[in-house]
Amino acid sequence: MQEKESTNRDETIQSIWNKRPLIISGPCSAETEEQVLATAKRLAATGKIDMLRAGIWKPRTKPGMFEGIGAKGLPWLQKAKEMTGLPVTVEVATAKQVEDALNFDVDVLWIGARTTVNPFSVQEVANALRGVSIPVLIKNPINPDLELWTGAVERIARVGVQQIGLIHRGFSTFGNTEYRNAPMWHMAIEMKRRNPDMMIINDPSHICGRCDILLDTAQKAIDLDFDGLMIETHIDPNNAWSDAKQQITPEQLQELLEAIVWRKEDVSSATFNAALEKLREQINHLDDELMQLLGQRMKIADKIGAYKKNNNVTILQTNRWNEILERSFAKGEKIGLSKEFIIRYFDAVHMESINHQKKIFDDL
Ligand code: PEP
Ligand code: MN
Repeated sequence: MQEKESTNRDETIQSIWNKRPLIISGPCSAETEEQVLATAKRLAATGKIDMLRAGIWKPRTKPGMFEGIGAKGLPWLQKAKEMTGLPVTVEVATAKQVEDALNFDVDVLWIGARTTVNPFSVQEVANALRGVSIPVLIKNPINPDLELWTGAVERIARVGVQQIGLIHRGFSTFGNTEYRNAPMWHMAIEMKRRNPDMMIINDPSHICGRCDILLDTAQKAIDLDFDGLMIETHIDPNNAWSDAKQQITPEQLQELLEAIVWRKEDVSSATFNAALEKLREQINHLDDELMQLLGQRMKIADKIGAYKKNNNVTILQTNRWNEILERSFAKGEKIGLSKEFIIRYFDAVHMESINHQKKIFDDL
């Protein structure tokens, strides 16, 4: 009987896991029983969410902040699940937390950004999951390191966990002001390319750290074909015990989800596909030309390298580099290229030039 129950539960979770878009929401932290139940009730009333989240144990960057209510919050989530029928997910960082979560019928576990960075912790969680059938979502590590993220996925996969998903929550960068955690979309896109069959959802709450740009960020994720969203909600965001600035009410979440334009990745209309195909051909053509030009540019860099070497001049001349950047900012602005892109592009081109010249220095 008990086995049957657990099979049914696995099937329910499986169908929720496969739902697109998958929407997960709930408070940053479970604070009180009333808060958890009221949030769950109001979220369920929107009819728009598939899974309830709440932080029970909170790894905080600095001591003295609210570090989570602990295992005593787990029965509140159990109640919230009974009341709404929504499955629940919590963050785990240690073997004991995994054990507690499993004892209280948590349906999905997630590994937080501060845990993904640490292979010891990820391995501890993985060991506790050996032989357990539960889906696990893995947030990107705090720092932009795809190997660390991949390593965490591999550790969890190796112990036999079959359902693994990814959460993109942005990366911490020094001096960043617009976002709490820079999205660095290219990192998530690369992770998606490497794991084409793995679900990846976006967490705009931790990327933005504020509410006014949540919609824009969530829309961007949907436009980039993410499989869903995890968004923090609170019944009284201003008085939340953690992440107060980025939480919205369940009703605001409903508005946000209704404001998103949900696009499909593929459309079957023949006219649309033909038009798209034509434009893609143009892009391919231009990309080929760009590659040719870059090749030519490197050949000139090689010549300069030989010339510098013969005249005993260093490879890097900072003034010249600044001049290239300034020139390109001015030009780029006129044709709609952002400063951020120009820096990234020229950094890459410049590094390649330097490597070419270095090779000339070593070879001659
Ligand atoms: C959270 O989801 O509340 C959290 C702590 O997130 P992250 O691990 O992304 O910082
Ligand atoms: Mn949070």
